Amino acid sequence: MKNSLQPPLRLLMGPGPSAIHPRVLAALAKPTVGHLDPFYLQVMDELQGMLRTAFRTENHLTMAISGTGSAGMEATIVNLIEPGDPMLVCVNGVFGGRMADVAGRAGADVTTISRPWGEVFTAQEIEQALSQRSFKVVGIVMAETSTGASQPIQELADVVHAAGGLLLVDAVTSLGGMPVEVDQWGIDAIYSGTQKCLSCPPGLAPISLNTKAVEVIMSRKSKVQSWYLDLTMLANYWGQDRVYHHTAPINMTYGLLEALSLLQEEGLEAAWQRHALNHQALKAGLSALGIQFAAQEGHQLPMLNAVRIPSGVDDKEVRGRLLKEFGIEIGAGLGEFAGKAWRIGLMGHASRQENVLLFLASLEQILMSQGHAADAGASVAAANQVYAGQ
Ligand SMILES: *Cc1c(COP(=O)(O)O)cnc(C)c1O
Repeated sequence: MKNSLQPPLRLLMGPGPSAIHPRVLAALAKPTVGHLDPFYLQVMDELQGMLRTAFRTENHLTMAISGTGSAGMEATIVNLIEPGDPMLVCVNGVFGGRMADVAGRAGADVTTISRPWGEVFTAQEIEQALSQRSFKVVGIVMAETSTGASQPIQELADVVHAAGGLLLVDAVTSLGGMPVEVDQWGIDAIYSGTQKCLSCPPGLAPISLNTKAVEVIMSRKSKVQSWYLDLTMLANYWGQDRVYHHTAPINMTYGLLEALSLLQEEGLEAAWQRHALNHQALKAGLSALGIQFAAQEGHQLPMLNAVRIPSGVDDKEVRGRLLKEFGIEIGAGLGEFAGKAWRIGLMGHASRQENVLLFLASLEQILMSQGHAADAGASVAAANQVYAGQ
């Protein structure tokens, strides 16, 4: 690595970053312009329109925060919360835990409710918590990437609104890979990230807030605790006034715009269906290898397959060989699942049948060499049956 950077070509099938489409990589290398250049202002307008399409919203305040998904989490929380404000956070994995941590640092009076890892919350459980006291904001993770559990969101807004709160949703992993209906579901504030199902490198965090959430921010008594993430100032750059706040990550914006163009060309519904189909095929293949999913049946994410490592199988050895011999990256277990689970991502551009088949064949070869009984070819055959049934 002397004069030129030569990163290895990997097939990114972990919990993010995901495989990047060549058109997105090419967009990143296009000429940088100034952040107030008329061309760039046009790019920003187009980006806002495409983000509204992806989020299925008419929300005026829809933009990309400079920073990864966690910056989106922090931006929505620090703007909605003033010191002492009560916030309820639903925790059933690492990212719900992170949300509670961020809220506490922002000065929220945080209450958490929890579910075992791999399980999801019911509207009744949240209603029960809201009957104890009132909360300004209720935060919940839609696609819990640490467990592979898919949290239903649709039925939550009514419950939260009836108790006078705002519903904040983490859609970092879900956006682009499964239905996210901001307006129809009544979500008040939402954030995502670029490097999961949008298949863009990490670096931007799309967010969207409805008028109710914006009013809460505009009527704050105290300044937003973070200067960098203060939406009252950022809105002046993304709005008509174009007031300089911080230098926008120009080329990252090109990349995200191209990624969203790809999503629109394919069609959101088609992208959701592709994620669902490849998940079914992978699941059939893994099941033929005797591998079980970690999340509860009926609530398994299409883009993040968290599976239990079979007993007697060497976790590190398997992941190491997948990377070294096949160029495939999958994720290790996180938190409670460390050493117990693998996280196999089929996110965005990575969610394709050639990847499912290559991964299953590779995994089967490694498992057989470790003495984990499996019929040769059974996993690929099971996946192919799913594809044939299409
Ligand atoms: C990845 C992820 C985040 C954090 O995003 P970063 O880009 O790593 O900052 C937050 N929430 C969920 C559900 C995630 O999967």
